[in-house]
Amino acid sequence: MKVKDLFKNKTVYSFEVFPPKSTSSVDTIYNALDKLVDLHPDFISVTFSAGGSGNSGLALDIASKVKSMGITPVLHLPCINYTKEQIDATLVEAANRGIDHILALRGDINPDIPPVKDFAYACDLIRYLRSKGDFDIAAACYPEGHPDADTLEQDIENLKIKVDAGADHLITQLFFDNSFFWNFREEAAKKGINVPIEAGIMPVVNKKQIERMVTTCGASLPQKFVKIMQKYEHNPEALRDAGIAYAIDQIIDLAAGDVDGIHLYTMNNPYVAQKITEAVSGVISV
Ligand code: FAD
Repeated sequence: MKVKDLFKNKTVYSFEVFPPKSTSSVDTIYNALDKLVDLHPDFISVTFSAGGSGNSGLALDIASKVKSMGITPVLHLPCINYTKEQIDATLVEAANRGIDHILALRGDINPDIPPVKDFAYACDLIRYLRSKGDFDIAAACYPEGHPDADTLEQDIENLKIKVDAGADHLITQLFFDNSFFWNFREEAAKKGINVPIEAGIMPVVNKKQIERMVTTCGASLPQKFVKIMQKYEHNPEALRDAGIAYAIDQIIDLAAGDVDGIHLYTMNNPYVAQKITEAVSGVISV
């Protein structure tokens, strides 16, 4: 069954993993997958580098592994730094492995890599995928607006183009204040966007993540979140527990508001995913 059909009957619950850096052992992700699969997510998505530094060669292997474990893999596919021929080659490789779920993305523009012009936006890739075969196509969306867009309204207008191009469902960028999600969902509906929207939740459980949030993440950091992070930043165990509790709180509120799905950015950490899943399984019927 395709993921797009699951939303009709349930709150979809999914995980995201990423290929480890080329300096780390690949076994770390395979060991993590063994535990993540036991939590019965509806799908596991695998990130793919937009080009340059990442370890994208592994993404297909990891997606294949997910499939062999009986869970639907969703392969992220950023297009901005790839030619049509390179995208075709990845799609052939995906098809050979029975992977037919794609999260179609533009990818971040890297100032050091001149963009390839074959696909300028995610909507161009989505149109292309639609012309190529029977894919289940997910796309990204941004409750606080994409950083390149002047306004949230303009970004939602562009999102409508992406949905009209053929996106079956959407996954949000992480956010720490649910009010942005509720506002975004309402504004998207007003613009005629009526595909399911999964909320992307990132449990922040260590100091390195906090630093990354503060410097690079476009998400607003609510006072309650900042207070918790400041209080526990020097106490790893307390910080981990507080980050897990914060994510659980967000998910319960989202479930109460009939969210279409929860996409957990697991950071390849099965312990955190397990604690959250145990706490929310009753409210979203995992
Ligand atoms: P687009 O939808 O193309 O939008 C990019 C910008 O262009 C936005 O400002 C939008 O408003 C504007 N725009 C869109 N369409 C048009 C149009 N037709 N005309 C004019 N303007 C337009 N990156 C990776 O490299 N690898 C990953 O695996 C990855 N996974 C991700 C998973 C999720 C759930 C999310 C939310 C993001 C992920 N990203 C990943 C990051 C993503 O690639 C970046 O946020 C990127 O900058 C935008 O990608 P997009 O697909 O949303 O782009």
